[in-house]
Amino acid sequence: MISVVIPFYNEEDNIVPLHDRLTKILQQIGSDFEIICIDDGSSDRTFEILTELADRDEHVCIIRLSRNFGHQAAISAGLKHAGGEEIVIMDGDLQDPPEVVPQFLDNLRSGYDVAYAVRTKRKEGLWKRMAYAFFYKFLRLISDIEIPIDSGDFCAMNRKVLDVLNLQLPENIKFIRGLRAFAGFRQIGVEYERDRRYAGVEKYTLKKLIKLALNGICDFSTFPLRLATYVGFFIASLSFITGTFFIIHRIFDFKIFGYSPVDNPGLATVVVGIYFLAGLILIMLGIVGAYIGRIY
Ligand code: UDP
Ligand code: MG
Repeated sequence: MISVVIPFYNEEDNIVPLHDRLTKILQQIGSDFEIICIDDGSSDRTFEILTELADRDEHVCIIRLSRNFGHQAAISAGLKHAGGEEIVIMDGDLQDPPEVVPQFLDNLRSGYDVAYAVRTKRKEGLWKRMAYAFFYKFLRLISDIEIPIDSGDFCAMNRKVLDVLNLQLPENIKFIRGLRAFAGFRQIGVEYERDRRYAGVEKYTLKKLIKLALNGICDFSTFPLRLATYVGFFIASLSFITGTFFIIHRIFDFKIFGYSPVDNPGLATVVVGIYFLAGLILIMLGIVGAYIGRIY
């Protein structure tokens, strides 16, 4: 059986057209299939329309989340309930054309474990395309695993990989395209042109996109943590040098720019104390950071 997992957040006008196009394709493939629709706390008629659909098509089943948990959480909920041998993830706004699914399945059936979509063209605004391009390059640069550039969550995988995602990678905050790459096995990219969304407006606001990007970075890289360590050690070194300088300056009492330490009694003591403690704290923070990186 094929399980298709689709998250919907206020997609009332997309559900029926997507169901029509997807069903046609799945029927051509010939295997049994289920379409798992996740209502991610929609406030429009998404749930009602899904219910009507499920009433007349036994392939459709619905998971309704108690509030809006976000795209990645919605997909994860669907993956937990997928019962098929082959699992497809796609968006609910027809940006991921169902016509690519047979190509995915061909790859799975010829020995690959994961077939993921690689976008050759994006029919989206310039700023969004630039932000995506920068993000994927940056993530690749700093992450500890190879996350393919320009691939989203649109993909197909077999049971073996799904079990790894469901059972072995119980992260709370998921970045599914990264976890999919992390899982390993034989993976292949399938190129396609990403369509415009069929109806409605984008549900990924700038805030949600930034959150997704930060999740991707923190899930797959300890670079931010290491950055804190490096900066900590650097500033601590500067602090010790400056502190030492203040001590020497006080003891030998020479003038710099006409200023002598005896003009301000007590200044050296206070400044050295501050620099020493700040340096000590930053070094300790760096050490703690190194251990947290290991735990993570
Ligand atoms: N989505 C969701 N929960 C959210 C935001 C989005 O389930 O909080 C779904 C949305 O309904 C769509 C998919 O995730 O099926 C992708 O969202 P969108 O089209 O807004 O993202 P974009 O295509 O712009 O990356
Ligand atoms: Mg979309």
